[in-house]
Amino acid sequence: MAARGPRILAIANQKGGVGKTTTAINLATALAATGENILLVDLDPQGNASTGLGLSRSDRGAGTYSLLIEQVAPHTVARKTFVPNLSIIPAEPDLAGAEIELVGEDKREYRLRRALRPEAGHAEDYSYILIDCPPSLGLLTLNGLVAADAVLVPLQCEFFALEGISQLTRTIEMVKRALNPTLRLQGIVLTMFDRRNNLSDLVAADARGFFGEQVYETVIPRNIRVSEAPSHGKPVILYDFRSPGAQAYVRLANELLRRERARPAVVA
Ligand code: ADP
Ligand code: MG
Repeated sequence: MAARGPRILAIANQKGGVGKTTTAINLATALAATGENILLVDLDPQGNASTGLGLSRSDRGAGTYSLLIEQVAPHTVARKTFVPNLSIIPAEPDLAGAEIELVGEDKREYRLRRALRPEAGHAEDYSYILIDCPPSLGLLTLNGLVAADAVLVPLQCEFFALEGISQLTRTIEMVKRALNPTLRLQGIVLTMFDRRNNLSDLVAADARGFFGEQVYETVIPRNIRVSEAPSHGKPVILYDFRSPGAQAYVRLANELLRRERARPAVVA
């Protein structure tokens, strides 16, 4: 793994509230629990991934803003979390201004890529870097997509879900054409699935009909424990391991690793 460098996955969907951050935190935790060394990059100025891993605003220090604007080395701003094998680059409040500051910069879409793929390699061997993108298709998300090898898309099982995703797939195609030709769709994860709601089944069937195998078998159920966990500054996997939400994220991590292993090796 180390020789190839980390595999970088952007968790993106321009819609807010679809489960990006929840997926980023819990997938990162579940992957870390398998022994993989994981780095989570909080690319959302709201900083929910940072808070959800117990880093309150006041004790975040330098983070993604410094990575983007000052191009510091990732290990200088990565922080170990209380989850073994999981580090995070937090979103400091300044990140909100980065989108505007970057506009005038040369190669502004490549800032995160350049920072996350240092020529000297990473001081620490991460096997996966997960990027929690903000709810827009602005310059921050663009930086996430340009830095990534592949995009993981959380899709909330609700009306209009598929309309939003067609805009995202067009953006991914544009990024592939213009900025990052090797970008792939890693997969689509159905989130907040509600068994009692027929609409959930309809959206799931539509998504599978349209995207086929790219949709993960694992479905994340709507589960109150998942929404409670962030207020305790913990991933749901540590907050209530036996809850259906936690168990689903453990299965999702296993399915992700299976899919990643099945991926054809790229000849360098
Ligand atoms: P995004 O990052 O896409 O904006 P979040 O991950 O922050 O979305 O989720 C939006 C809200 O939905 C949060 O309050 C979160 O706790 C809640 N939520 C996410 N996934 C679930 C789930 N599976 N069950 C219940 N609530 C969830
Ligand atoms: Mg979020």
